[in-house]
Amino acid sequence: MRMYDIINHKKNGGELSEEEIRYFIEGFTRSEIPDYQASALLMAICLRGMNEKETAVLTDAMLHSGDVADLSSIPGVKVDKHSTGGVGDKTSMVIGPIVASCGVPVAKMSGRGLGHTGGTVDKLESIPGLRTAIDPEHFRAIVRSTGIAIIGQSGDIAPADKKLYALRDVTATVDAIPLIASSIMSKKLAAGSDAILLDVKTGSGAFLKTLDGSIELAKAMVSIGTHSNRRVMALITDMDAPLGAAIGNSLEVEEAVNTLKGNGPEDLTSVCMNLAGYMLLLAGAADDIESCKALAQDAVKSGRAFEKLCEMVKAQGGDISVLKEGFPKAPVISPLKAVASGYIKHMDAESCGMASLELGAGRIRQEDSVDHSAGIMLQKKVGELVKAGDTLALLHTSDTAKLPEAEAILTAAITIGDSPPPPEKTVLAVVSENGVEMM
Ligand code: URA
Repeated sequence: MRMYDIINHKKNGGELSEEEIRYFIEGFTRSEIPDYQASALLMAICLRGMNEKETAVLTDAMLHSGDVADLSSIPGVKVDKHSTGGVGDKTSMVIGPIVASCGVPVAKMSGRGLGHTGGTVDKLESIPGLRTAIDPEHFRAIVRSTGIAIIGQSGDIAPADKKLYALRDVTATVDAIPLIASSIMSKKLAAGSDAILLDVKTGSGAFLKTLDGSIELAKAMVSIGTHSNRRVMALITDMDAPLGAAIGNSLEVEEAVNTLKGNGPEDLTSVCMNLAGYMLLLAGAADDIESCKALAQDAVKSGRAFEKLCEMVKAQGGDISVLKEGFPKAPVISPLKAVASGYIKHMDAESCGMASLELGAGRIRQEDSVDHSAGIMLQKKVGELVKAGDTLALLHTSDTAKLPEAEAILTAAITIGDSPPPPEKTVLAVVSENGVEMM
């Protein structure tokens, strides 16, 4: 079998056989297939797609490219959550501690930034000393003792996804349903939790911009998960504008802390309460979603959820003083002013993510390092009335040379008009094995 022929087969719109898919994943994992051939096949899949059977085989091949975790030594229903990626999406750092403080163990493996979206691992690593590369035995021990650990994808869990993820990040090959579904479900299944909640983003900052596309992705992942005997549900959540006000690593950790203390932005708080509620429901913490949401609210109100975050950070070697006193700020903080008066009608989330990347918060090439203090603090949100000259956002960076490009991208991302836009729902649909419920 030759990689050249497999690329050509998909380029011409053919259905890849099980042998071809397994040849690619096994060879690529062992570094026998070079990045340039893998990139060419990824691009062909982006353009030509994959059917349900090909996607199932791809997921299975990636799932078995490394170890499959055994979490049976941790008592209780272990629950995991995964987002398809968004801008300002710091929900894992909020809902993980909420759910764990309700007595449900959270054993979570998270990713790094991908394309214009941020990743929880990059965000957590802005906490001095915090380690996300933790071996499986220690990971399980932390979950047993504190009820929660959030770590990076260990080298042994779905290594095929780890390599493909880094390649897709820099080759514009992220936004394809079979690639996203197999990436997420291979590592979630290999990570060993009993229940998985998927946060499928939709809108301008999501990889899939339309509601129909996001529902299709959610159905594909729920079907893969339930066929593997896991409890799986998906929420379709709005990502047309950035979530909350903070975009960028340490800025987002601070906003997550505020949200855990009950002082978060409205949109972020609403998404987090829904996600935490459904995670608790999947774990069987209460019989119905409203009771589960009430448990989540009480965890925040009582201070237990914030204390749980501190426990987790300590257990992973992090310095909790930044959670209590705040992070050191970037040396340059520059305001972006409104050039016109009116209502903010739209804030293109993908462009906001790109502007944050420009400021140093993400990677343009695989080898780039991340500036944890860089990013954007939005001062106005969609629907607000602004006057020309008002500050719309504060741009944080370590390098003034990065400002002009970031300012240009962000200015173009914000549309100001005469009337306010209609209010957006934060959760648009719930997808389970029983079907799709529109909210
Ligand atoms: N998150 C993932 O883990 N993989 C993707 O492909 C997209 C989002």
